[in-house]
Amino acid sequence: MSEQGELFGTAGVLVPDRPTLPKLREAAAGCRACDLWTTGTQTVFGEGRREAEIMFVGEQPGNDEDLAGRPFVGPAGKLMDKAMEEAGIDRSLAYVTNVVKHFKWEPRGKRRIHQKPNWGEIAACRPWLDAEIGVVKPRVIVCLGATAAQALLGRQFRVTKQRGVPVESDLARTVIATVHPSSILRADTEEDRQAAYEAFVADLRTVAELL
Ligand code: SF4
Repeated sequence: MSEQGELFGTAGVLVPDRPTLPKLREAAAGCRACDLWTTGTQTVFGEGRREAEIMFVGEQPGNDEDLAGRPFVGPAGKLMDKAMEEAGIDRSLAYVTNVVKHFKWEPRGKRRIHQKPNWGEIAACRPWLDAEIGVVKPRVIVCLGATAAQALLGRQFRVTKQRGVPVESDLARTVIATVHPSSILRADTEEDRQAAYEAFVADLRTVAELL
């Protein structure tokens, strides 16, 4: 039981000594440090080069990511790719991951609807993210949405008020927060969607200037 992290309630016990990204990915695949391993199809670990200069951190994998086993491959990920290109960020310089590595959802008819992870689940999964940051050592970390921002910058952090402003942190030279791209897709009208997208690109331009 303890081998899979269940006894300790945190993934930290599973993080290998002298971690590398392949070693971490392999160890995380068997993680059962919180109950989300029972709802997600598989662990969705981060992706990108070890030398990545920028790390994007989202909340958790979505439906498409859960099925593919890869982060940011669904509609929100595609929107982020487009915004990065517009902001002049080289996609190959980025590592993408989430604070929680399994998909939390509830059934609604035949659909699986995203559910926000709780603080216990975020804390249980945090050692994986810390290990990724430790191996990649990004110059800039970009928190996508409130869950990632509050996990990394404190529970008082408000993305609505503090987005796009570089924050000093021990985690990287700069940490900055913006919205999660999925929130742009959920905007009520096309006009709102366009405005939210442009604000997102503006935040990513600030990120590009930090590199
Ligand atoms: S969500 Fe994180 S801590 Fe929970 S089982 Fe999955 S990998 Fe482990």
